[in-house]
Amino acid sequence: MAKNQLEFKGYALVDPARFTDLEVTTIEPKTFTADDVEIAITHCGVCGSDVHTLKQGWGESKLPLIVGHEIVGHAVRVGENVRDIKVGQRVGVGAKIGSCMQCRQCKEGLENYCPKGISTYNSVYPDGIVTQGGYSTAIRAHQQFVFPIPDGIESRYAASMLCGGLTVFSPLVTNGTGPGKKVGIVGIGGLGHYAVLFAKALGAEVWAFTHSPNKMEDAKKLGADHVVDTNKEDFAKPHALSLDLIVSTMDATPQLPIKQFLSMLYVHGRFVTVGIPDKDQPLPTLHAFDLVPNGCYIGGSAIGCKKECMQMLKLAADKDIKPWIEELPMKDAKKALEGVADNKVRYRYVLTQDLA
Ligand SMILES: [Zn+2]
Ligand SMILES: [Zn+2]
Repeated sequence: MAKNQLEFKGYALVDPARFTDLEVTTIEPKTFTADDVEIAITHCGVCGSDVHTLKQGWGESKLPLIVGHEIVGHAVRVGENVRDIKVGQRVGVGAKIGSCMQCRQCKEGLENYCPKGISTYNSVYPDGIVTQGGYSTAIRAHQQFVFPIPDGIESRYAASMLCGGLTVFSPLVTNGTGPGKKVGIVGIGGLGHYAVLFAKALGAEVWAFTHSPNKMEDAKKLGADHVVDTNKEDFAKPHALSLDLIVSTMDATPQLPIKQFLSMLYVHGRFVTVGIPDKDQPLPTLHAFDLVPNGCYIGGSAIGCKKECMQMLKLAADKDIKPWIEELPMKDAKKALEGVADNKVRYRYVLTQDLA
């Protein structure tokens, strides 16, 4: 395929006051290097991060800016150092497209924790070019951040796994989710619905916690063994000292009843948050009394590494795991972004290519 056949363009934010009114804009790709893969995009999921960034909730964004970091497409150009990807192969990209590859984290396969990690959009490459995301025709990424998609998963299903799925899969496997473990999932949204699907597929007994009564039935259909309505006062009491792990996907943290969640942990149990709210939304304050009686731990998790991503995709292919998605052409990104902002999505929008 000719090197310059792809035109790099996408649906960009031009005015933060109108965060859903994206305009088709041509973009400049980064300099192609020997470690890069160039991808012609076919699908891109719509992540909560896209909404936070477009609304400037995580700080001022660069302009114009194309968001989207749940990308699937075909490799159209592959650098000479790239080991596991060939031209024409179906591949995906998640929330990062590069890192230093020199630090301890990068050397130990924890490249998602590299302090010099380059986000898929609204970041800057070493060559000074601003990174632009997947509501677009094409992207270039370092091979460590490009994931071969197994034949057993359709592109439309794989797309949102690459951020939404991986973000919950990583803390589940890092913290020992498997047969005999009791795992709680807080929040049944894009991430939470994946967490229920994966925790079940890994063999755990799963509790779903939701404050949306209309999602309780969905949580059961997704495979949760128990569904708990967190609107009820004392909802935690019947489950005191019972869970090994709680993964919280909530990104409205001042309202998070974190003390109740911690009280449900078994001895040395862990509460892990993956939701990242806007800057002005801190976690509720805690007292040592909330942590000491059951010796529990509280922590966080940031997306996942390539090894975990490949493990997740294999599990999804082997067990035929399908996320609940709604597909829209990219030009209808506005509808998807509003659906995510208004919490109407069930449970992920996936945009399909309409510019190339
Ligand atoms: Zn994301
Ligand atoms: Zn690094």
